[in-house]
Amino acid sequence: MKIVDVELIQLAKDHPRPHRNAKEARSRRVVSLVRIATDEGIDGLGEAWCAPAVAEALVVGRLRPGLLGKDPFNVEGIWRDAFDGSAMYDPKGTLVAGLSGVDMACWDIMGKATGLPVCKLLGGLNRTEIPAYASDLHWEEDASAMARAAAGFAEQGYRTVKTHVGVDPVDDVRRVRALREAIGPDVGLMVDINTGFDRPTAIRFGRRIAEYDITWYEEPLSPMDTDGLAVVRAATGLPIATGENEYTRWGFRELLEKGGTDVVMPDVARAGGLTELKKICAVAEAYGVVVSPHNYSSGVCSAATLHLMAAVPGTTPLEWDTVDSSIGPELFVEPPVVKDGTVSVPEGPGLGVHLTDEVRARYAMN
Ligand SMILES: [Mg+2]
Repeated sequence: MKIVDVELIQLAKDHPRPHRNAKEARSRRVVSLVRIATDEGIDGLGEAWCAPAVAEALVVGRLRPGLLGKDPFNVEGIWRDAFDGSAMYDPKGTLVAGLSGVDMACWDIMGKATGLPVCKLLGGLNRTEIPAYASDLHWEEDASAMARAAAGFAEQGYRTVKTHVGVDPVDDVRRVRALREAIGPDVGLMVDINTGFDRPTAIRFGRRIAEYDITWYEEPLSPMDTDGLAVVRAATGLPIATGENEYTRWGFRELLEKGGTDVVMPDVARAGGLTELKKICAVAEAYGVVVSPHNYSSGVCSAATLHLMAAVPGTTPLEWDTVDSSIGPELFVEPPVVKDGTVSVPEGPGLGVHLTDEVRARYAMN
């Protein structure tokens, strides 16, 4: 089997209310999908979570020439050639994200060609349902609206919910308290700062919210300040989660060596694809650190994340988009069953995703 074409397809979905976190407010989500075609008529879909403006140049302009004629089953060789040939110049950035989409599409092709779900090729269907947390409760001026939404997720059966605060590091303590009161003592509460604090602010805020039983304190600091995570962890006593802005096994090893992280969050559409995520999981396990993959883009990334987590024991929990602003279920051949805080693993061949003409037209970038 040979790769005969590589295409980048961008879709966009607008949402009426901006999603706000400590760093920004977003009203549009853009998805960059990679479609790889083969000489046997099987094609695969992947997703590259990178700056939309450069995705085409990376995937088609830079990576495509090296992929044509290659066997998509040779994911290790494809990854190494692409990394050494291109991404090494950008080892923690958008080229690795582009490569992630290529790698994911190759796994989709392998699954379709063998008639097996990707998890069976990655390590087996070790779980059919993955425990999930509700992502996300974005910052709102009205704390009671956030609290109502949190209670709704708990009622749906989610055992953990995540919120984005840090817009106002003083007043947001009130929002965290309102969320804890809304969900009761038995539902987990994650607090995501989206890299918005400096060390003193992270410590002060973390100490003030610690009494609300925080499951994890996510990205309190700049992703460049990996030394600071251990300082914040020691000062607040809170478990630290980070990694959605980190890349490859080498990046995660460096992060883990610092000792300030309890949960790492590699993104399969960003950190290097499924081939690399398996390696990152192995590195994390050697450090005794849990992997909860970052998963907040489209249904293609969600499908790949589900297959990875089904195959790799110990990865938990699944980040599950409950905001309804993503292009999610439409990209699954059979949308997963979401029940009692779990999400089912796709059973069909490949990743279990597709891009219909109707969906492509509905979300075409303009
Ligand atoms: Mg996050």
